[in-house]
Amino acid sequence: MEEFRADLHCHTTCSDGTVTPQQIIQLALDRGLQGLSITDHDTIAAYKEAIPAAQANNLPLISGIELSAVHRETSVHILAYSFSLASSAIEKFCQRHHYRREMRNQAVLDLLATQGMPLLPEDFPPDLLSSLSNRSIGRPHIAWAMVKKGYVLSIQQAFHEYIGEGKPCYAPGIPFSVEETLEIIHQAKGLAIIAHPHLIEKVGILRDLLEMNFDGIEGYYARFPPSANERWLKVGARKGWLVTGGSDFHGEIKPSISLGNSWVNQETFNILLQHFQNNHGSLI
Ligand code: AMP
Ligand code: FE
Ligand code: FE
Ligand code: ZN
Repeated sequence: MEEFRADLHCHTTCSDGTVTPQQIIQLALDRGLQGLSITDHDTIAAYKEAIPAAQANNLPLISGIELSAVHRETSVHILAYSFSLASSAIEKFCQRHHYRREMRNQAVLDLLATQGMPLLPEDFPPDLLSSLSNRSIGRPHIAWAMVKKGYVLSIQQAFHEYIGEGKPCYAPGIPFSVEETLEIIHQAKGLAIIAHPHLIEKVGILRDLLEMNFDGIEGYYARFPPSANERWLKVGARKGWLVTGGSDFHGEIKPSISLGNSWVNQETFNILLQHFQNNHGSLI
């Protein structure tokens, strides 16, 4: 029998991915995955379409989101799983993120304009702006528009020269703390996971996070060699935490990463599925 694989980290068009929620369910089936969680940035909008598609195909799906936070002026991503999709705490938090993004994106656009790189609404795909807008618009969309206008040659260049953290057109916006984010996740009876810890460059930040009220750490990540996983497996074991994983698939925005590139086994997936079912029933 084929090895059990569940991808717990991927993005759709509801944030900065390029495949729709329905397409990602189909892609998961095509790639032989036996479980999935969609983790769009600061929104759960994908689940409206994804749940019926997963149900129609008997693909076990658990709730997921990747929440943006800032700790000591450093950006930190927090994954949450198995929370209630009907939680008003999560819904309100997503709305606040939406507003935060609107303000932050405008600040980035203003800075780009002062550098001679104005972007107008018509420079973005019409469906992005006209949709019912619980989607998360972010810097990758701005980078994409910069490429389209010919200001830069690639999305990478847009981040490296202009809109990446610390670059001249970067605006941090008004961020949320890790502590508040953890509180919201736990209010919705979800599990909170430190996302891609290997990307946290400052040792002090990781050290702080390891002392906080997390439930797990992302140990399996796109194209990690097995030796890299060991470090996070040890951290997880020491803390008594779950070790989760996934591809961080974004579609064409990051073409080198395919859905299912990284995954968790049946045991880990079942812990999350059980947690969801025990707390919120068997919606998915
Ligand atoms: P935002 O959440 O709007 O601040 O945008 C951050 C997102 O941009 C991250 O989650 C990544 O998906 C993407 N990103 C960050 N840095 C880069 C980069 N150098 N190249 C491409 N995408 C990036
Ligand atoms: Fe992203
Ligand atoms: Fe992330
Ligand atoms: Zn991600």
